[in-house]
Amino acid sequence: MSSAWAGGTDAIIERMDKMTALYIEEARKSIYTGESAVNCEECGEPIPEQRRKAIACKYCLPCQAALESKSR
Ligand SMILES: [Zn+2]
Repeated sequence: MSSAWAGGTDAIIERMDKMTALYIEEARKSIYTGESAVNCEECGEPIPEQRRKAIACKYCLPCQAALESKSR
């Protein structure tokens, strides 16, 4: 048993919202004006068009997340 989730669902959702907001913020900061890569430069997987349109990016979501967690 863990008390990690003692805050309840609301706290979890709030935390996720903050993480999402942070993620978007980070993504915006690292935006470059060039075009998004069609394929992830890290793993070569195709980047979903939705993501490419939302932000100019070079990596797929998992690779971007991995790179960001590495740089911290
Ligand atoms: Zn990738």
